[in-house]
Amino acid sequence: MAEQQHRRRLVLFPSPLQGHINPMLQLATILHSHSKGALSITIIHIHFNSPNPSNYPNFTFLPISDGLSQSQRKSSTEDLIAFATLLNLSCVNPFRDCLVNKILSQQHEPPVACIISDSSMHFTQPVADSLQLPCIGLRTKSELEAPVRELPPLKVKDLPVVKTHNLEAFYQLVADMVKQTKASAGLIVNSFESLDQSAFQLLSQEFAVPIFPIGPFKKFGPASSSSLLTQDQSCISWLNKQPPSSVVYISFGSAATISEAQLVEIAMGLANSEQSFLWVIRPGSVVGSCRSDDDKDKNEDDKFTELLPQKFNEIFMSGRGCIVKWAPQEEVLAHPSIGGFWTHSGWNSTLESICEGVPMLCWPCFGDQKVNARFVSKVWRVGLQLENGLEREEIERSLRRLMMQENNKEREELMVRAKDLKEMAELCQREGGSSFQSLQNLIDYIFSRNSDLKIAN
Ligand code: UDP
Repeated sequence: MAEQQHRRRLVLFPSPLQGHINPMLQLATILHSHSKGALSITIIHIHFNSPNPSNYPNFTFLPISDGLSQSQRKSSTEDLIAFATLLNLSCVNPFRDCLVNKILSQQHEPPVACIISDSSMHFTQPVADSLQLPCIGLRTKSELEAPVRELPPLKVKDLPVVKTHNLEAFYQLVADMVKQTKASAGLIVNSFESLDQSAFQLLSQEFAVPIFPIGPFKKFGPASSSSLLTQDQSCISWLNKQPPSSVVYISFGSAATISEAQLVEIAMGLANSEQSFLWVIRPGSVVGSCRSDDDKDKNEDDKFTELLPQKFNEIFMSGRGCIVKWAPQEEVLAHPSIGGFWTHSGWNSTLESICEGVPMLCWPCFGDQKVNARFVSKVWRVGLQLENGLEREEIERSLRRLMMQENNKEREELMVRAKDLKEMAELCQREGGSSFQSLQNLIDYIFSRNSDLKIAN
């Protein structure tokens, strides 16, 4: 890789959602550092949920207009499918104009080797084709849907639920993603072979394009923060004061919501479990209470306190818990005081937990989360799953099973398997490991692409 003599320019286009921006910027960092700077990185992004360029001084950021109204932007939390569908229409011209006028016209810059685009932003493929540029997709979610077909361990209730009011738009989005992935120059996946073996075999058969499983991205080295919300570092000082493996970390990611009644069930389950906790309550995540963007009012904390039951507040005030609006999650999961992760089973959160060997309690909500959760609890067996929604008694029981350290054989076994899985994730990235090899193949492949060649299709 290092001996590549000619620099090439890579153009990346992330979807503007937190769980998609993080892996895309991690990938950009990996490709930049592993090509020893031979790949220059340009990120085209929409204004909404823009990444912070000052965290990435080596990259060029080119914002484009998304043409969305304020209410359409809101669908990014309320109806992810409607949001993705809108972006796939409204970004076509700005994306193309940016490529033509700000990138391809610059003769003094290295030639563009290819575009890497979030797979859900499938409009990029026909634009790339029309400009005779290769386009590789990045799949930021799991591939575990592949083995669903009537196979154990999945149950009917695990089949992905979609956060949308329009199922037809969902089917159309999936059909477009599949079509454009088949037309693409390849697919990068944030996972590793030994975790997802059968899914990769199916993917290769189905798509007949080169597949590059090079995850977990974060294991290739630290990347700058791409967090859209400010991460509250005060929770790290609080964690520093807790005994080893004693705290359960609770976060449901950037898009899942709970009702006020569910908030109370969680609080009571936590109080009764007698476990210490670090709980992320994201602004806007409790439906019916404060909304995030337009309503950053000063009394937000008071509103949450009003909703929380007195018994919980007493325990919270006694210092057994810490609540933040957004945490430095990767740092939290790596902290020695963390003994478990109660998660919504988003793919990034799942991988981040696997990388730190932290056992999980899964409460999946939508998309690939239900499938991820079933694999965590039944295939890799590094976690438990809440089977009946958010209900205080099951929460209490599950937290004790996950967290209690004395005479808890179940936890001991979870910990052994979590440690094994963590080691597998580490091994695949060492020299000779599957992700290490795939990354090398990807970089060679990128350098072998010649954007002057017409792409078949
Ligand atoms: N995250 C974070 N702080 C938080 C909660 C989440 O930085 O308090 C990050 C987390 O590390 C992960 C991402 O947000 O990288 C969430 O992605 P995931 O795929 O787990 O879920 P999604 O938000 O897409 O539902």
